[in-house]
Amino acid sequence: MAKKKNKKLEFNKGWTYSEAPESSGHIDLKKKYDLFIGGKWVKPSKGKYFDSVNPANEEKLSEVAHASAQDVDLAVKAARQAYDNVWSKMSGAERGKYIYRIARLIQERAREFSVIESLDGGKPIRESRDVDVPLAANHFFYYAGWADKLEYAFPNRKVGSVGVAGQVIPWNFPLLMAAWKIAPALATGNTIVIKPAETTSLTALKLAELIQESGLPEGVVNIVTGEGDTGAAIVNHPDVDKIAFTGSTGVGKIIQKAIAGTNKKVTLELGGKAANIIFEDAPINQAVEGIINGIFFNQGHVCCAGSRLFVQESVYDEVVRKLKDRIETLIVGDPMDKNTDIGAINSKEQLNTIKKYLKWGKEDGAEMHQSSCSIPKKGYWCKPTLFLNTAQSHRIVQEEIFGPVLAVQTFRTVDEVIQKANNTPYGLSAGVWTDKGSKIFNLTTKMRAGVVWANTYNKFDPASPFGGYKESGIGREGGLHGLLPYINFN
Ligand code: NAD
Repeated sequence: MAKKKNKKLEFNKGWTYSEAPESSGHIDLKKKYDLFIGGKWVKPSKGKYFDSVNPANEEKLSEVAHASAQDVDLAVKAARQAYDNVWSKMSGAERGKYIYRIARLIQERAREFSVIESLDGGKPIRESRDVDVPLAANHFFYYAGWADKLEYAFPNRKVGSVGVAGQVIPWNFPLLMAAWKIAPALATGNTIVIKPAETTSLTALKLAELIQESGLPEGVVNIVTGEGDTGAAIVNHPDVDKIAFTGSTGVGKIIQKAIAGTNKKVTLELGGKAANIIFEDAPINQAVEGIINGIFFNQGHVCCAGSRLFVQESVYDEVVRKLKDRIETLIVGDPMDKNTDIGAINSKEQLNTIKKYLKWGKEDGAEMHQSSCSIPKKGYWCKPTLFLNTAQSHRIVQEEIFGPVLAVQTFRTVDEVIQKANNTPYGLSAGVWTDKGSKIFNLTTKMRAGVVWANTYNKFDPASPFGGYKESGIGREGGLHGLLPYINFN
């Protein structure tokens, strides 16, 4: 990579940080990627490819194959063959060895994976390095451990696999979502056809290289890249036994309709509009830091982002002042810089969606406050944004924006905040900030959300189940619960 001038990163109040860019010199990206089917690289039948672009500078990183329904059929056939002939017959202990190997290989190549994740997706290198890649490896380690212990996971029951799993994932945590899907499916003896999101296919394709290196039998994991039509071809394929989808609620509904009346098992991990609640007895500085992490982490491209903030009236002024101060100090810019807090928005389309909501927020009468930071001229960027004086009826309060935008409201009583927080079609996650354990227990039982964090936010562990209520999804991933969707009890 060309050596850059050591320009100071300037931001508010005269503080400066020297640039600290992560090198991308060691990564090896092909100019063009084919489909990974039956353990081999296969050209797409229609010869179509699309560009994968770095959202921080709009430069093309590579070309990626667009799989047709015919290619998906080939991948399903490879997965079926591998299931019938090898994987379903292998002992859990043997399967576990392969999964451990994949986990270790991810650890060995962690730096390469995190650099590619940041280049391709726009997220700060600090996050891909410290969150995405280690958690992905941990997921494989965790489920490798279950592979030979399924009889203890489900005592007195005869555990069988389901067959071929069709998996479709989004762009916000590309490698991590692939790990969430692949690891439990392999541990339980299923084979896989997986499709990464069209804007972030590269780490899944690097994972294909690593899977080849691991010696996993051919056809056990097939990786087909493409757009919505490729995902639909997986969902509609008659020989796929289970669908695991993570993405928007809109597409989740299409999938549910598509598989209605079939025998396919399904898990849907969909959108969210999480409430983060600060009570007056909370440690305010810690809470403000948690709120900031909850919504600005990964540019707000997080299904469980704490995008609605409820502040008890008595501490409202203090919390808002501290939030405004804190967003001024957030560093927005080059995802490859280790100082960066907020990287690039994943795509032009997503940036346009966010801009639409900023406009609607103002039109609906909310007061918008943005950081005064400057943003790069090229690429897709959004300044951290607060909306004050919002109402329950505002679109920025009701709908998932999937960007660094926080809508703030106030409340007086516990009952009022529970009612307001639950007033959403979603129910993926929530956060509570208070000094009182009793309040935490009260809220966790009454909040209609799959995950409720207390005095922290956005903490993940492979041993914890994750999933939503209402329109945030069906089923759980992670932990012991994450094995269930991939099991048939005989
Ligand atoms: P999306 O629904 O647009 O796309 C997700 C995936 O589905 C992509 O791979 C896409 O190509 C594919 N797809 C599109 N149309 C399809 C169709 N008709 N049939 C089958 N597949 C199709 O979502 P996105 O914009 O990539 O991701 C953002 C969404 O994902 C947000 O709503 C977010 O909340 C959600 N999400 C949820 C979780 C969770 O665990 N609940 C985790 C991450 C992201």
